[in-house]
This record gives sequence, structure tokens and C-alpha cells, in this order.
Amino acid sequence: MRRKCNPGYLAHEKTASPVHQKQAFVQTKYIFVTGGVTSSLGKGIICASLGRLLYARGLRVTIQKFDPYINVDPGTMNPYEHGEVYVTDDGAETDLDLGHYERFLGVPTSQANNVTTGRIYSDVIAKERAGVYLGKTVQVVPHIIDEIKHWMMKLGGTGEFDVVINEIGGTVGDIEGQPYLEAMRQLRYELGRKNTMNIHLTLVPYLSAAGEVKTKPTQHSVKTLLSFGLQPDVLVCRTDRPLGTDVRKKLALFCNVDQEAVIASQDAESIYEVPLLMKEEGLDQIVVERMDLEQVIKERVSTQRGLDDWIQFVRRIKEPKATVQIALVGKYVAHQDAYKSISESLLLAGAEQGVHVDVRPVLSDMVDEDNIQELLGDVSGVLVAPGFGDRGIDGKLDAARFAREKRIPYFGICLGMQCAVIEYARNVCAWENAHSTEFDPSTDYPVIDLMEEQKSIADKGGTMRLGAYDCEIQEGSRVAKIYGRLQTRERHRHRYELNNELREGLISNGLMCTGINPKTDLVEIIELPDHPWFVGVQFHPEYKSIVGAPHPLFESFVGASMKYAKEKDLVESPRPVQRDKRIQLASAKME
Ligand code: GLN
Repeated sequence: MRRKCNPGYLAHEKTASPVHQKQAFVQTKYIFVTGGVTSSLGKGIICASLGRLLYARGLRVTIQKFDPYINVDPGTMNPYEHGEVYVTDDGAETDLDLGHYERFLGVPTSQANNVTTGRIYSDVIAKERAGVYLGKTVQVVPHIIDEIKHWMMKLGGTGEFDVVINEIGGTVGDIEGQPYLEAMRQLRYELGRKNTMNIHLTLVPYLSAAGEVKTKPTQHSVKTLLSFGLQPDVLVCRTDRPLGTDVRKKLALFCNVDQEAVIASQDAESIYEVPLLMKEEGLDQIVVERMDLEQVIKERVSTQRGLDDWIQFVRRIKEPKATVQIALVGKYVAHQDAYKSISESLLLAGAEQGVHVDVRPVLSDMVDEDNIQELLGDVSGVLVAPGFGDRGIDGKLDAARFAREKRIPYFGICLGMQCAVIEYARNVCAWENAHSTEFDPSTDYPVIDLMEEQKSIADKGGTMRLGAYDCEIQEGSRVAKIYGRLQTRERHRHRYELNNELREGLISNGLMCTGINPKTDLVEIIELPDHPWFVGVQFHPEYKSIVGAPHPLFESFVGASMKYAKEKDLVESPRPVQRDKRIQLASAKME
């Protein structure tokens, strides 16, 4: 039987949860997280993990990401460049780290949570044009630095947060990162040491030739920080093995950091173990002590959540009862971060059901009628991903047709829904060459077409239909049962829509349009009645899955895939059980 929609998911829908309502003024604490030695050390995960630990203690936390590139936002970047673009309720196109923040904390983010150098400069230039600087020469110091400081304190200034974690993108020493380090230095000076803290994430590599781990790269990167007037309070050392006391002592001595503040962040099997690993190393306790947060924590007894739920969740990930294979069909599957929120949503949905979802990446360009049986014949679910441009479209149409005809659970997200509609129009309605005008502007059957208001837009950045829109769900439909209610609000990122002029024709041929935007009458959800599970959504449900409360559509899709796998004898045995001492250690520490 299907589990009821997790109430946590509904809580996440509100723009602010009760704990985030204003309370008596408390000085907001600012934690700055920088990275050294190399990129890709997982700063976002460390920030999200620390955020989760502080949140477990009742604190009101948010995380901001500062990206030192000149794009105003990552919306115009190719997913190969930058991974997935994450979209917030207020329609900001942001860095994928915000997805981690939301999934770990369960608290919605907004435009203010992701700021780039491009945004800072465009704001400063707009002010200059408006005459705000009253005849002054506008310069990096003080104007750009002041603008960065303004954004760094913007969320803290609302009074809604006890702690703001500011993640600084890039690696210390990068030319483009320097203004952020100067802004941090000034804030540390102005707000005082109890109210600000610098956590530096670095790499402690093992050199097999020497047979030991090396601290020198960390020492150098701390020296670089010092040259900007910043002394780290905590070192989080990414390492592939446990760090011995001797290494910790050495790092403490040469980097001028207390020994207990040298934290090991050993490679973990799952990113969701990192909060437990950080708990074991005492990261949250160091922050609480350094920033005098004990008193605030005492006042937050009612919102203290502990880590029990998290521990149970990690246990479910690590000890699945079965494995189910789901194909992810898209054109960026070669990049592991391009569909981050989708793969995480599948994982989170699987965890709730004790199932490990083995995501099989299928490059849509490769799919054709001849090889589709080989590529998709043995999967238990097919998810066609969002996307732009015509590369790989035919493969996506083939995948939709294959899943429809073979009765394999199908989940089409945004372009994946549009492909399902095109395929249905061509092969069921027999509307020859039906297409989206994105790919064939002169098709006789433009089942997917540009929205009227999009037709005059030439700029690419920030001009799509973005952010949260209401959707009314048809009573008695499959999705109504899945959601357990008739209204929802989901995040969008697209220009094209199901063409309402052809909607009746599709419906009379059996396609169901079961989710409609009440204001614009645009189709948000389609489904097929005579199929075990065939749903397409114009929006992006993947942006709203959180740990312990995956999006109901993902949960239902994984459930349907599991059912299909059982029927077809495709269930695989669970992965080897990896019992983890961290789970016990973290539980002990929380008591
Ligand atoms: N390219 C399609 C559109 O703009 C789909 C976008 C998407 O999948 N996010 O409507």
C-alpha cells in the first residue's frame, strides 16, 4: 500500500516554516566557509552538513553561496560547465549547492541565497547609472566590497536566522575571489570574533611514494588566507584515510589553529553520511562554543530536532532491501552533476521505501529504435530528463514510446513531458510529424508551442517561466491520489507549453491533462489512464525533495518501478550491507 504523503513535504511548501518566523532580536552569527588547495572538495556538502547539525540543535540556519564568476546567474550556462541549474520558489536560477542546502535543511532558499560577481557588478553599475554614488569614482574598494557585504548580511538582517553560513565559491588565491576575502575580513573586523568565524576546507593528500599524508598544501593555502588578513578558526581536512594525532598536531601548530579545530572529513560512501562524520569530529560543538551559541540553543528547545531521523535515513540508504534499475534518459548524462536533483530525488524516494535506486544513465543521442530494447528492455522505470535544444530529441521520443508500449513506469519531467505529448500525438493520435515548435517551427501539429508572452523575448538570461506556480489537480486522477490533495505549487523553468489549441484533440484521443494552472489555464500534468504509471509534468518536482520527505511524485514513481520489477522478476539483491560505526557514534553524541 502506498504510504501517505509525508507531512514534511507539505511543510517545505510554505515559504517559511514556523521556526523561521521573526523572534526577539539576537545577533546573527556569520560563518564563512572557504576552500583551499583544489576545487571540488565538497564545500557545499560541508556547509549543508554543518547547517543540518546546527538546525538539529534548534538553531535557525540558512546558507548562502557566493560565486565569483561574471555570469549574473548560472541560468545561461551549459550543464557541462556548471552542473544542474537549481531553481528556487522565487524563480532564481542558482548553483546546484542550493539544492543540497534545501535537501539537508528542508528550508526553502531564494535569490538572496546565491549571489555571483556578475550580480554584484550589475547592481553596482545600475546604482551608478541611477546616480546613487553622488559623483564619486565607483571602485572595487569600497563599492564592490560594500555590495558584497550587503549581500552577505542580507538574510542575517531579516532577524529570521541565528546563523548564516556563507560559502565562498572557488579556491583561495583565485584572482576573482579576492573581493570576497576582503569583504569577509572587513565583516570579521566590524562584527567581532564572537559573531564571525572562518572555516577553511582543504585537502590533505596521501603520497604513496612517501607513504604518508602531506600537510604542506594546507599550510600554503592557510598562508594565502593569512595574506588577506584572515586566520581560519577551523580546518576541515578532506582526506581518504583517518588523520592521526601527529598530523592534526602538525596542522594545528603550523596553521595556528587549535588542535580540536582540525577536523577530518574522510571520504564517505554517501554525502548524507557527512553530517554524522562532522558530528563525530565535533564541528558543530566547536562552532557553538566559539560563537557563544549555548544561550540561544537553550531558548530554542522547542525547535530542537536532534539527528535521530537523519540516522534512520542513513541506515535506510546503507541497508536497502532491494535494488531497482531506473533509466535516466538525457543529453547531459555524462556529467554527474547535470541532473543532480533528479538523481538525489530518486535516492531519497528509494530510501523511504528501503530500495536502492540504481540510476542507469542513457545518453539520448544514442537511443534509436534498433537499440532501445537493449538499452531500456531490462529497466523498471524510465525517466526522461528536462533539456533544451534538439540534440537527442528523437531518442527521448523513442524512450517515451517504448515505455508507453511496454507498460514500463514513465516519468517525464519538463522536456520529458513535452516528448511524451509529441510521441502520443504522432503515434496514438496519428498526427504525422507533430512536434514542439522549439524543434520544428513549421510543424502541422505544434502540440508544444511557445507561450504568447515569450514570443517577443530575445534575451536568454532569466527570461523563462521561472519559479513557483499554482497547479490544480483533477479529482479522481492518479496524481490526485499521489499528492493526497487537489492543489500544489511547483517550480518551473521553461519557455514552451502544451498547446491549448490542440489540447481537446489530445484528450479525445485518451491523453489526460490532470494538472492545470488556475490562472493561465496551461497544462501542468499529463497522465495516461491505461498504463501502470505514466506521468509527465511541465514543472520540476526534483527541486522539492528533501531528506525524509521526497517529492510524492518521485516516491510514487519509485514505488511503481519496484512493483514493475517484482512483476517482471527484475528486482536485484541489495548492495552489500555496510554497517557503519559512525551511525552509532553520532547517536551516542546526540544523547
Ligand atoms: N526546452 C523546453 C522549454 O523551454 C523544456 C525545458 C526544460 O526541460 N526545462 O520549454
